[in-house]
Amino acid sequence: MVMVLILRYQGYQNIIRQAERLTLATLENNAWSIAQIINGDEHQHLQEAYQEKDEISGLTQDQRYDNLHKALASAQKELGIETPVYTYTKNEASNSFDFIVTSSLDPYFRHPFTSAPEEQISSYGKSNRLPAYSDEHGKWLSAFSPIRNSSGEVVAMVQVDQCFDHFLNEASQDAFAGLWWNFLLILFLVIIVWKYVTVLIYKEEEDKIELQKIIGEKTEISERLSLREKELERQKKSLVNKNQYLEDFANIVSHDLKSPLRGISNFASLLSRRLGPTAESSTTEYVNYIKSNAKRALNLVDGILNYSKLGTDAHNNTSCNLLDLVKDARENLLSVIDGRGAVVEVAERLPDAVCDKVIVTQLFQNLIGNGLKYNNAEVPTVKVTCTKDPEKGCVMAVSDNGIGIAKEYQASIFDMFTRLHGSEGQFEGSGIGLAFCLRIIKSYGGEIWLDSEEGKGSTFYFNLPEALLGEPEMV
Ligand code: ADP
Repeated sequence: MVMVLILRYQGYQNIIRQAERLTLATLENNAWSIAQIINGDEHQHLQEAYQEKDEISGLTQDQRYDNLHKALASAQKELGIETPVYTYTKNEASNSFDFIVTSSLDPYFRHPFTSAPEEQISSYGKSNRLPAYSDEHGKWLSAFSPIRNSSGEVVAMVQVDQCFDHFLNEASQDAFAGLWWNFLLILFLVIIVWKYVTVLIYKEEEDKIELQKIIGEKTEISERLSLREKELERQKKSLVNKNQYLEDFANIVSHDLKSPLRGISNFASLLSRRLGPTAESSTTEYVNYIKSNAKRALNLVDGILNYSKLGTDAHNNTSCNLLDLVKDARENLLSVIDGRGAVVEVAERLPDAVCDKVIVTQLFQNLIGNGLKYNNAEVPTVKVTCTKDPEKGCVMAVSDNGIGIAKEYQASIFDMFTRLHGSEGQFEGSGIGLAFCLRIIKSYGGEIWLDSEEGKGSTFYFNLPEALLGEPEMV
């Protein structure tokens, strides 16, 4: 608001200055024009007459004065001057000015003008303007010009005035018009800005509170997380200890179980040797039965031990190609393959993987071994291939031309100690192999399933998504 006031006041000042300049220029011009019209000689005579006669009334009859007055009146009319135009002479004796001819409207006026400004006295005889001055009638602007006689002497001065008050009023009205509306507008804007700022401040406060709340919640969450982490760490330690304990336990148990079993097996062999070929056939059969059961029990203990270790030992993952692992498995089964006159066919290319070579080789060995074992074909044949599946990715397949598995048993064969064909003693086994396979596959995020028909063979499928690297098309 103060700014608006200052700007308006400056505008007002500029208007006044400009108006003063223009007015003074006009006044100066008018003063000069009138000075040219007035006859200087007549003026000089009139002046002399004044000095002789100090009665104003006596002058009214003076013909010289009439002429002068008429000339002045016509000039005033011609120039459109509304204010009185007057002339004056300098009174050297009193150092003042005497009006000797005044307004064309009021010629009978003679007045010693003693309060002339210093500038006017000093500039007598020259064209000039006076600085604005004020009297009881208002603020005035004046310009004057010398009147000369025929000899060129300055005999009087003509002065033209212009009252400036009405202009000042108009300029001030113009400059300050609508100020109250401006103030109201500014007030309105100030209120809006203030409201906006208040809203912003309020919003900032709210944001701060919200932020503090979030920080508080975050701190609480991180405290809870750190507690949870500690709890997990504690559980992890406890699990490691338990695993270690279980591993120790399994080792001790297997060792303690295996030594009496080995003892039974050894003593049964000794007994069989001592009995010799002459022994009763039923006795030999019983001794052999003891031997085979002891061997089976030993295999079972080994199987359980391997199975339990699978859960406790971390995988020793390295990069490899599955073809090499399948070939190793086939190598391990060479005596069985040769003994049965069997064939194990492997695809030319299998995917790369990052896995524990020992246990994945064991996985292939179990599946290929089962394909050879549960097989009465003339030439038992097992094929290892890899197929592409849009959902499961690279799927390994181990198929055989064996005895197959009836539909109703297919779901249960992955359970521990489940054996479908072991009761007649035709197929040796512990019922742990497929449970072991399932556990390995699950540890790599995979699945195992089968497709089998009794008497026609089986195909075991599995994938290892967390171990296989190669895309199926590489296969
Ligand atoms: P094991 O072979 O030691 O008995 P597994 O867990 O490997 O134990 O197999 C469980 C059972 O599943 C086997 O006893 C057998 O009856 C059946 N089985 C496994 N693989 C095949 C196969 N390729 N063909 C037919 N039956 C199979």
